[in-house]
Amino acid sequence: MDPECSGPGPLVSLDLRATTAHLVVVTLELQPEQLELAFALPAWTPGSYLIRDYVRQLEALEVFQGDAALPIRRTGVAAWSVRVPRLAPLRLRYRILATELTVRTCHLTAEHGFLALAAVVLQVGGQRWLPHRLRLQLPAGWQAFVPLPADANGDWLARDFDQLVDTPIEAGPHPCHSFSVAGAPHRWVSWGTTLEGADLPAADPHWLADVERVCLACCRLMGVERPAAEHYLFVLHLTDNGYGGLEHDLSTVLQYGRRRLADPDGRRKLLQLVAHEYLHQWNVRRLRPAELCPYDYDRAVVVPSLWFAEGITSYVDQLLPHAAGLCSEGEVLGDLAADLSRYRLTPGRAVQSLRLSSQEAWVKLYKADAYAVDNQVSYYLKGAVVALVLDLHLRRHRSGLPAVLRGLWRSHGCQGRGYRQEDLLNALAALAPDLATLLPRWLDALEDPPLDDYLDDVGLALSAETSEEPWLGWHLEIATQGLTTRRVLRDSPAEQAGLMVGDELIALAGQRVQRMEDVSTVLKVWPGAPLEVLVARDGRLLSTVLTPAPARAKAWRLEPRPDASAEAAERRRRWLALELP
Ligand SMILES: [Zn+2]
Repeated sequence: MDPECSGPGPLVSLDLRATTAHLVVVTLELQPEQLELAFALPAWTPGSYLIRDYVRQLEALEVFQGDAALPIRRTGVAAWSVRVPRLAPLRLRYRILATELTVRTCHLTAEHGFLALAAVVLQVGGQRWLPHRLRLQLPAGWQAFVPLPADANGDWLARDFDQLVDTPIEAGPHPCHSFSVAGAPHRWVSWGTTLEGADLPAADPHWLADVERVCLACCRLMGVERPAAEHYLFVLHLTDNGYGGLEHDLSTVLQYGRRRLADPDGRRKLLQLVAHEYLHQWNVRRLRPAELCPYDYDRAVVVPSLWFAEGITSYVDQLLPHAAGLCSEGEVLGDLAADLSRYRLTPGRAVQSLRLSSQEAWVKLYKADAYAVDNQVSYYLKGAVVALVLDLHLRRHRSGLPAVLRGLWRSHGCQGRGYRQEDLLNALAALAPDLATLLPRWLDALEDPPLDDYLDDVGLALSAETSEEPWLGWHLEIATQGLTTRRVLRDSPAEQAGLMVGDELIALAGQRVQRMEDVSTVLKVWPGAPLEVLVARDGRLLSTVLTPAPARAKAWRLEPRPDASAEAAERRRRWLALELP
């Protein structure tokens, strides 16, 4: 029997009932338009700049016309083609193994199903821009949460392949919570529970109202009355200790640790993650770098303005809950100081510029290892530092970053025009002409931008907290074999002693060390003296000498200056509230 294939564009059916095998059975029914049909699975998903080779989870691909199986030719690692005997409906069948729980992979268990469709749906040659219909078969008692319009048959309708793979699917017996933002319907669904065993809105009666306030603060920041999405879905996975988010046009998927949520600061940090992903519905999704228009799902594409897409968003996500009236000035200054500390403790900022960090995202940030801190700096982290400097610089010119975002939204985002690096520069220089020379310098510099002067404008100063112990430049952890070096910082005493990540620390100054406290005790007894270190590496014992350096700053605090003027304090209030001067 020929498959059902009415209307143009493929029908994608996903069967989620094989929960114990964690297999999603996929059927694509389509009308071929040529006798040679090509199809491919994306290698990555937008928003997460790593070639993931989703095809490693695809198995048992078959193509049928009527009852006849057609021979399939492999044309690439994730690409195939089929010679079609006649232009009659085709049926493609395969399975996807869904065992990886992140915001950009698939996970199917007896408790829930989560699908990132870039990892699931084949793109059919010549049919990318045709409408795609989506049909789900679910275990009994489950419902699906899909941020697409549904038709009378219960199928969901995507405008094209791009909109379909921009659609995350959460399914399970979970309840759905509805609220609205400036009249636009929003849904919140969470899988996994808090430490007390409750669903997130059930555990926190103010949660949805606070999320709504953060969403409204995002709209105010963008200078719009309503969100860009006509309707919106939040999916939250509460896991043991996870963290992450992925932005989509009509939704976001968040992963967050239930232990973090038990921490008093954890709720505010989750609101910041909500703000970050929600703001992405403008910055990076609709206000999109030209290099991503349209997406090339087959290969890595260099995006030089990732520092803007992620750095600006990371900077304002810290201010948005405050602008929504949900946290104090002290809390937001504490969060900004924590990021500035993390930045100043990253030796890689003297190796990789912000511009390079954006260009190298695919091969550096997304492939960071234990040495990454030495030779790279995240475009999220340094991007947020440069965003802070840009915002305060623009305020000297009686403007601010909110004006830049609003201007770019009007000139590019809401018109569907991708922006290039020059467009960003022009938008910033239109408000502060000296940024035409300063910004390129900050993007290419290996030195820190001039932060202290700008903080002075808003009556703030950074003060260092010095460590009580001499500086060794290693980070230790308790691994299964014992005390082990997790990091060895560049140009540090530990590096000069020849230590490497993964060395097992056996003895220090002739004393057996097994716990962190053992190291502290030795350092107290022989302050500053060269210490004999005995380590095990690859099954052999090695001895070396470690010469501690004077104690260094371990963090910085961001505090109001007692001598700051009333004008500086008012500038600070407006800046932290994301109000223009
Ligand atoms: Zn982001």
